[in-house]
Formats: sequence, C-alpha cells, structure tokens
Amino acid sequence: MADKNSKQPENVPGPWYVDTTCSLCRVCLDEAPNLMKYNADETYVYFFKQPETPEETAAAQRALDVCPTLSIGNDG
Ligand code: SF4
Repeated sequence: MADKNSKQPENVPGPWYVDTTCSLCRVCLDEAPNLMKYNADETYVYFFKQPETPEETAAAQRALDVCPTLSIGNDG
C-alpha cells in the first residue's frame, strides 16, 4: 500500500499520489497519461493533475491497480 507520508514532492495536492517507492516501470503511464508523467530527470512518475471526471478517476484507479510496487495511493 502506498504511503501518504512518503509522497513524491511533485504530486499536485489532492487524494491521488505516487510515493517514493516508484520503480519507474512505466505501466501506469499507459493507463493514465493525462494525469501522470515523469519528473524532469525521469527517476519517478507523479500526478501532475488530479482526476476530475469519472473517466479520469477510472484511469487513476487502473494505474493504481497495475502498479507492481503499490506506489500509487488515493488516500491523500
Ligand atoms: S506503475 Fe508504479 S512503479 Fe511503475 S512507474 Fe507507475 S508508480 Fe512507478
């Protein structure tokens, strides 16, 4: 389970986040490319946008579900 006390600092404020255990496997980017992206030096990904629609929330949930390291959280 992702740890909200270890969020990547670039996540935009809100319930969805990536924590510091991201291993950069990239699979979440296929599910939520409109919400998540690489940081500048491509060492992790983060939420640059919080979901605002049911479709975006579903995309974020798919990203959470496929993350092999359980690095994505939605508990703020
Ligand atoms: S799926 Fe998880 S480990 Fe892979 S890049 Fe996304 S947040 Fe990081």
